[in-house]
Amino acid sequence: MAMGAITGQCLCGAVTVTVNDPPGWVGICHCDMCKRWSGAVFAVFPSRDFAFSGPVVEHASSPASFRAFCGTCGSHLYMRDTDREERDLMPGLFQETQDWPVASEIYTDRALCWVQPAGDHKRATEAEYEENNPSPIGQPT
Ligand SMILES: [Zn+2]
Ligand SMILES: [Zn+2]
Repeated sequence: MAMGAITGQCLCGAVTVTVNDPPGWVGICHCDMCKRWSGAVFAVFPSRDFAFSGPVVEHASSPASFRAFCGTCGSHLYMRDTDREERDLMPGLFQETQDWPVASEIYTDRALCWVQPAGDHKRATEAEYEENNPSPIGQPT
């Protein structure tokens, strides 16, 4: 069943976003950069067909990627790599993501001890992930 467009907003409402291709699942990363940025748990879903309005601010978090937040309230909005159009959006901006399952979880051995997402999804430790996804800058993005 195709999912319709979903619309979300940041904490203060200054930034709104519509996603026309919601996948219905999220991915989780527990690497040190993602933990630091998210505060604890970094969960995102990919989109190629989206529209933002409002004060979106991008921070160049590494040579390979940007992370974006609301310029008014600081809510995290998305991450993107410099070499692709796709955005990895934060599910908490949207009501509709409430029941979306986890599709994959990486850097599982770096997770905070109380973060153990349920489900029968793909899981990879830091070593397992980096073996199959060598980073051009030698570190997680
Ligand atoms: Zn805001
Ligand atoms: Zn990460």
